[in-house]
Amino acid sequence: MRVGLGFDLHRLAEGRPLIIGGLPLAHPRGPVAHSDGDVLVHAVADALLGAAGLGDLGEHFPEGEPEWKDASGSRILGAVMDLLDAAGLAIRNVDTVVLAEAPRLAPHREEIRRRLAELLRVDPARVNVKATTLEGLGPIGAGEAIAAQAVVSLRVRPSLDLEQDL
Ligand code: MG
Repeated sequence: MRVGLGFDLHRLAEGRPLIIGGLPLAHPRGPVAHSDGDVLVHAVADALLGAAGLGDLGEHFPEGEPEWKDASGSRILGAVMDLLDAAGLAIRNVDTVVLAEAPRLAPHREEIRRRLAELLRVDPARVNVKATTLEGLGPIGAGEAIAAQAVVSLRVRPSLDLEQDL
């Protein structure tokens, strides 16, 4: 088993679209970012790369590189899942927490979970999404930023030959 940890944070500004776990949410503020600023996707992608021993998001999708400008979370996670596939690794489970003062995420949690599981190509039972406010403290509490943390565990897929034998 391999375990990886991911964290991401983005500043929020008026009039930017807010996308969490690939799901667009109606909110007057959204992340200031080179990509779509999906903190949940970025934290999960970093955790996956970490568990696979494949470096980090910035290394694979450099800021300022036109190919990844405004890259959606689904495109980034698709590319990361392709890397895991090539390395013979599969997701066991993913646990996450989104840190945001607003909007309230509880009503969207199941939909975010399903969307994230779809992007990760696994059953939603393997993915968990939690959310918390910071009780008004610090920049996240003031609604000036949003962040996410993720932990993943991977398993090594048996080789194709072995799989045929099973
Ligand atoms: Mg990010």
